[in-house]
Amino acid sequence: MRMIISDVNLIDGTGSGLQPFVHLVIEDDQLVEVLSSDLPQEMGNTKVMNGNGRWALPGLFDLHVHIATWHGQPDVDRYKTYQPAKAAVLGAKRIHQTLMGGVTTLRDLGTAHGVAIALKEAIEKGQLMGSRILPSDKIICVTGGHGHDVEGMSREADGPDDVRQAVREQLRAGADLIKICNTHRAPLSEFTQEELQAIVSEAHRNGVLVACHVGIEPGYQMAVRAGIDTVEHGNLPSDETIALMAERGTYWVPTVSVSRGLIDGERANMTVEQVREAVKERVEKREVSRRKSKFGIQYMTESFRRSPEVFQKMREAGVLIACGTDVDASQDREGALPMDAAKNEMKWFVRFGMTPEEAIVAATATSARAAGIGDWVGTLKKGKVADIILLERDPLDDIDAIDTVSAVIKEGVIVRDDA
Ligand SMILES: [Zn+2]
Repeated sequence: MRMIISDVNLIDGTGSGLQPFVHLVIEDDQLVEVLSSDLPQEMGNTKVMNGNGRWALPGLFDLHVHIATWHGQPDVDRYKTYQPAKAAVLGAKRIHQTLMGGVTTLRDLGTAHGVAIALKEAIEKGQLMGSRILPSDKIICVTGGHGHDVEGMSREADGPDDVRQAVREQLRAGADLIKICNTHRAPLSEFTQEELQAIVSEAHRNGVLVACHVGIEPGYQMAVRAGIDTVEHGNLPSDETIALMAERGTYWVPTVSVSRGLIDGERANMTVEQVREAVKERVEKREVSRRKSKFGIQYMTESFRRSPEVFQKMREAGVLIACGTDVDASQDREGALPMDAAKNEMKWFVRFGMTPEEAIVAATATSARAAGIGDWVGTLKKGKVADIILLERDPLDDIDAIDTVSAVIKEGVIVRDDA
């Protein structure tokens, strides 16, 4: 099947500016040519989609999603157990919405009861339309560690042998990567250095990458030293760790959406003092457990306060920054659904100092490489998979134009075109 998307302004994800009024030639699922000449008079069997002067970008990435999990319940006890059937139904709805919003690839970093893997398989078999999913299946954490308390979503593992087995279990279940949690709010490493190394070596030996939830030192640097591939959140690194990440090529998925509260409430425009009060209030209402809150108030306020500064330091050091949001399936606030979250994360990147084009590269080419699939997707260069979105306005002028998605093509198939 041959198709041409005519008359688009191409932003190919590599950071090389704009190619005005070109035509994208697609064969089956691949972009095979970018034509800057006039279209041939005789098109034969070629289908033509009118790009109509819109801006063409690679499909967006969200590297940190929990597609069928929810954190936002008002009742902590209900958060601990929820029905797999309900998760599956909600996940199927969300993954469709996510694709329609222009996020063509996501990593699911922990969804209970194997739901993300089931969604991925249904999508690959054509039973369900949705974004490409790279699932981690269960989160691997230490006994009682961060992430252990959601039923069906984590595998507690202790000691080098057990953590290796836990990695193998996720691979057996169909995971495309390994997600671990090491250190959340308390200043200690949950895994030992030996355990971290065992996880990374077992994953890498099997050809998969390791994403690590980490918040604060010393567990932060220990995870980076062990060779994890992406730092998830990574709010409070030491300067030494930042330098180490730059040196080792460790990707950073800052999930600014979380540290600035876009997803978690109305923190986005609060002062540090207001954030402290809001967290205290949640602790008092027992929405955050007292044990967790011991370090929670300080951690959350520090993360909020330091997020622009840490972002700037990471950029200056040359750390590769990728796009992930930590959005889950439950959110029904405007801007916090999976199809909007990645775009809002990009706006945070710009607010924190990136140019709009750098934010686009972060959410496409860099994210694809961070996910280990940059050789076949993530840019609109000849030979890449045709995951394409069309915008009504120029995002290089104003990143808010990322909200004007009016067409989505996944693997050469038009799944949405409002024109
Ligand atoms: Zn998460």
